[in-house]
Amino acid sequence: MTSASPTRVGFIGLGNMGSGMTRNLQKAGFDLVVYDIRRESADELVAGGAVWATTPGEVAAQSDVVITMLPTPRHVDTVVNGRTGILSGIADGGTWVDMSTSVPELAQRVRAEHSDRELRILDAPVSGMSIGAANGMLQIFIGGEAEDVERLRPVFEAMGDPERIIHVGAAGAGYAVKLMINQLWFSHLVATAEVLSIGVKAGVNLDVLRRSLVASPANSNFVQNDVMSVLGHGDYDEGFAIALACKDLGLSIDLARSVGVPAELSGLVEQIYRRARAQYGDHAGEMTPVKLYEDLIGVDLRLAGVTA
Ligand code: NAD
Repeated sequence: MTSASPTRVGFIGLGNMGSGMTRNLQKAGFDLVVYDIRRESADELVAGGAVWATTPGEVAAQSDVVITMLPTPRHVDTVVNGRTGILSGIADGGTWVDMSTSVPELAQRVRAEHSDRELRILDAPVSGMSIGAANGMLQIFIGGEAEDVERLRPVFEAMGDPERIIHVGAAGAGYAVKLMINQLWFSHLVATAEVLSIGVKAGVNLDVLRRSLVASPANSNFVQNDVMSVLGHGDYDEGFAIALACKDLGLSIDLARSVGVPAELSGLVEQIYRRARAQYGDHAGEMTPVKLYEDLIGVDLRLAGVTA
């Protein structure tokens, strides 16, 4: 294993998140080797000097570190273990960082089945939405060995807010932290949609109700900030598809089950998300459950005159 920080970064998965993350890596001066099943997703990067690889194995063979940013554990499995996957190209002692919201089982299996290859494997999922990916201000929660985290810090700092790049524990801890963040955020969303709908139906002005919540002990980041995208602009954040939000909630419930902790509230939130996905489609935004409540009460929850 080399102790030098990587200069050539391989990146697989150039979607809503990966496209912004790679642009920022390129801007920071890293040489990129990229791959996605959608060739056109790399056009801009290649025009800017990135190398296009035709398989994940080729990405791994040409990079100091290979990063995956893929929708679900199933996609990560294909990209890592497939016939032309990362494992077919990565050098012994090479580094793979999975930044997808996923689960530790796959990496554990790779470690067990390839223990002689001394691979360095980290999980480093992110928060901050596609806007955070675009402006290089992601929050990054890293599970793995401290020396690897330090070696890779310049890579993480090119994509995230240096103040909020957190080494959260051993391999697998990053995935767990990320799932709990999403579980709580989605719970805040459903609770807020319910409360605003009841209050508005009870005749309270939406702006007054929200400002009262913000001024009260019941305030939250969601009520204060994030809900404004719906209330101000009718924007349900299509940058994060509800299909992926449902995937995260399912993984979170699985995690609760695997550690033997009941998840009654989380289970309910998952069901509400699944209802919204069934009603509005896979590509609807992650905040579409608010719309379930709006449709139920026959009122769009909107504030007049919001400009920012
Ligand atoms: P996305 O669907 O927009 O992008 C995924 C990309 O992976 C697509 O470009 C797709 O073509 C590519 N892909 C799929 N299968 C592939 C394969 N076999 N080989 C190569 N490429 C393949 O998803 P996203 O919104 O960018 O999310 C990526 C991950 O980040 C997910 O795990 C998600 O839960 C997580 N995440 C998303 C957000 C967000 O706001 N969008 C925020 C935090 C975390």
